[in-house]
Amino acid sequence: MARNYKIATIGSHSALQILKGAKDEGFGTIAICIRGTEEPYRSFKVADEIISVDSYDDFEKCQDKLLRENAILIPHASFIAYMGHERVQKLRIPYFGNKKILKFEADRNLQRVWLKNSGINVPKVFSDYRRIDRPVIVKFHGARGGFGYFIAKDPDDFKRKIKDYPKGHNYVIQEYIVGVPVYAHYFYSPITDELEIMSFDKRYESNVDSLGRISARDQLVLKKVDPSYVIIGNMPLVVRESILPELFRIGRNVVEESKKFAPPGLFGPFSLEMIIKPDVEIYVFEISARIVAGTNPYVQGSPYSWLRYHEPMSTGRRIAREIKNAIKKNQLKKILHNHDNPKDD
Ligand code: AMP
Ligand code: AMP
Repeated sequence: MARNYKIATIGSHSALQILKGAKDEGFGTIAICIRGTEEPYRSFKVADEIISVDSYDDFEKCQDKLLRENAILIPHASFIAYMGHERVQKLRIPYFGNKKILKFEADRNLQRVWLKNSGINVPKVFSDYRRIDRPVIVKFHGARGGFGYFIAKDPDDFKRKIKDYPKGHNYVIQEYIVGVPVYAHYFYSPITDELEIMSFDKRYESNVDSLGRISARDQLVLKKVDPSYVIIGNMPLVVRESILPELFRIGRNVVEESKKFAPPGLFGPFSLEMIIKPDVEIYVFEISARIVAGTNPYVQGSPYSWLRYHEPMSTGRRIAREIKNAIKKNQLKKILHNHDNPKDD
């Protein structure tokens, strides 16, 4: 039963929603917070317990406690970013998700092969700048959160702009797709083999989303306004209904393809980050193989989850519901890493 387990996650990113959803499904909840960042988890009353650590380097120190509490860990981007993939692999706490996927998610090249083999359009990548024959976006690896990206129109433009960056920085030169960015949030259940569309969002990125507020004339006066894509917030979005069949199709393809290289494949929440062109052609530039913060506007559910559930169903709550369903059917092993199936009841 749900009350025999606790849901635990790191206090950041989408933890409010994850913990609230877990409580709504009858689980106890634990937030692991960096000392000094506990207030939201206390104030919004989503955490039954808060474990404070001085740094995420200390995370492993609370493992034994979490194991004793029968906690299930829910990963999100901050968790992966702060812990790093290798440490996550080694954790002994029951973990919601397929850890084999992490490697494919972390590597842009592996992601690309995954998407291509799923029959999905991806932006062209130029391995040699001299071949740039269209507008490109240059993304630096490890430049967390979209800082330092730039756009170039041809090899000369690239050469001129790259000079401003220290040598030895890893980057990818990607075709710049002119269209609108859309972030699609999915949930796949390996228990029922059902793929759900949970919601969509668009991002509010600093400073690129404000450049339109400065006229081209004034931008020239400011001399150098470099666009950055640092995420500040997320805004809800519904998409044109006639695009939905295609979005279901590509979501399903991504799941089926992952079953081939990382069985049992991708499951639980995931997101496809895409640009949709005016001719409604879809280009996916990234997969997030876990809950994304773009689902945060939907603590009470989205228009889509309302259609299906007739009750408030956030992605956080959907995760807890999946765990509850697995407990009921004695199938926790299917959705948890490090689960020895001790006391399902
Ligand atoms: P934070 O815990 O806010 O420092 O974020 C850690 C990681 O999660 C960073 O790599 C962020 O880019 C990503 N992230 C945090 N919040 C959001 C958001 N609202 N939308 C998309 N990504 C996010
Ligand atoms: P990323 O760091 O890959 O999530 O990209 C940050 C932002 O850059 C996205 O939210 C998009 O607005 C934009 N972007 C990324 N890749 C492309 C692309 N290939 N074409 C156009 N815009 C892009």
